[in-house]
Amino acid sequence: MKHITLIITLIALLACNNANKQQSTDNSQQSTPCSLLPTPYSLPPTPCSLPKSLLLGKFDPATDTNFIAIPPHMTSHTNIYCQRQTLQAYIAMRDSALKENISLTIVSATRTFDRQRQIWERKWNSTPSLPNDTTAHIQKIHNIMRYSSMPGTSRHHWGTDLDFISVETDYWTHGEGLRTYQWLCANAHKFGFFQPYTSDPSRTGYAEERWHWSYAPLSKPYLHAYQQKITAKDITGFSGSYLIDSLNIIQTHVLGISQ
Ligand SMILES: [Zn+2]
Repeated sequence: MKHITLIITLIALLACNNANKQQSTDNSQQSTPCSLLPTPYSLPPTPCSLPKSLLLGKFDPATDTNFIAIPPHMTSHTNIYCQRQTLQAYIAMRDSALKENISLTIVSATRTFDRQRQIWERKWNSTPSLPNDTTAHIQKIHNIMRYSSMPGTSRHHWGTDLDFISVETDYWTHGEGLRTYQWLCANAHKFGFFQPYTSDPSRTGYAEERWHWSYAPLSKPYLHAYQQKITAKDITGFSGSYLIDSLNIIQTHVLGISQ
């Protein structure tokens, strides 16, 4: 009898130990066990279903089943991707716009961390500076970040945000560009899209971008997950990245949107 009691006690102790191990692994990321959630998701994404790699653009949209290549007749570029749900909503909006002779051609969609780093380094290197000149580095960051993101901080990493027609500010202020912008302001919300970078003076971060529209049913959960999971320590590996914390880039630029 003593033996049986001992064996039962040992089994109970082992089971408890395993459960604690599992819990401590899960707690290192989230309080909910992320491993139980399916990917790709069929429900709206939660912070659990969005690992840091997705939030930071460190993945390949060509092999991620949530992503799809944008059909060539909808974009001026080749081999660009967005999330399937974003594309579905975009197609509905595009069809509606076409009835009013407005063509919402996509000029940019998902950009990976590496792609954003290429853009960043090209702009960074276009102005010379000494390696230890922090003042010059801060000035460069402010100049670049009027319109371009630091790698790891772009909404374009998420496959939820699209740029339409032209990324030139002037295009959108008159004629066809202004008419298209007015149509988007009046109608995009019906399809789940909003303009994150408006002219609202209470907003921080990027200048107004009339071409950039975000699919809220996906991008809002992504932003929520980003707030929960990403800190400045996660964003490294490019020129000037040492300043991201002191310049409070996540607060001003990732969170500085219209809604
Ligand atoms: Zn954009």
